[in-house]
Amino acid sequence: MEFIDENLLKYTEEHSDNESEVLKLLNRETNAKVLFPRMISGHLQGRFLSMISHMIKPQFILEIGTYTGYSAICLAEGLQPHGKLITIDINDELTDMVKTYLDKAGLLNRIDHLTGDAMKIIPELKTNFDLVFIDADKENYCNYFEMVIDKVNHGGYIIADNVLWSGNVIKEEVEHDRETKGIIAFNEMISKDKRVSKVMLPLRDGLYLLRKL
Ligand code: SAH
Ligand code: CA
Repeated sequence: MEFIDENLLKYTEEHSDNESEVLKLLNRETNAKVLFPRMISGHLQGRFLSMISHMIKPQFILEIGTYTGYSAICLAEGLQPHGKLITIDINDELTDMVKTYLDKAGLLNRIDHLTGDAMKIIPELKTNFDLVFIDADKENYCNYFEMVIDKVNHGGYIIADNVLWSGNVIKEEVEHDRETKGIIAFNEMISKDKRVSKVMLPLRDGLYLLRKL
């Protein structure tokens, strides 16, 4: 399913900043060569993440779920001059491609790309974050939130992607798979969590914007 009408999406993209040449290339190569290319944030969501990052001006960003590195590059655009982004992915087959594009974007020294299970890596991290982007396995969204909430500075932000899960979150007639159950449980949990202020945006596949109180 398309997230919104194709022509409307095109219109929003035409009236937003262009993708940089590196991001355009990465988008194209991901769509041509990598499995599940619809997972890439893409032009519109990428510009949104970049805008948000510029608003927050974070010193430290954590991304859970690198995939081909598109959203990491977008989020890194708003980092403070000496800021850093840590991004984690379990899929080591994409590591070379990610490194190539981080290099092309001139971000090898600003982005630490860690390969492994985020569930194991996050508890080892000693850093506190101003912005966390949750975008890995949907079954673990609740766990990721609980693991990062104490590492987020007060007034810091967490953004969770795909919280509408192609509209499956409101389909009651079908048996939900593990991922859908994970997203629904996460959305329920967050909507009641007093530690964060929240707004759910129907951008692309749904972005949950959370501010730690
Ligand atoms: N943030 C990317 C898309 C991420 S797709 C973008 O917007 O362009 C989700 C990624 O989560 C996949 O690359 C997958 O390998 C990764 N992933 C799944 N389970 C994981 C785990 N337990 N730990 C770390 N990464 C995981
Ligand atoms: Ca996503």
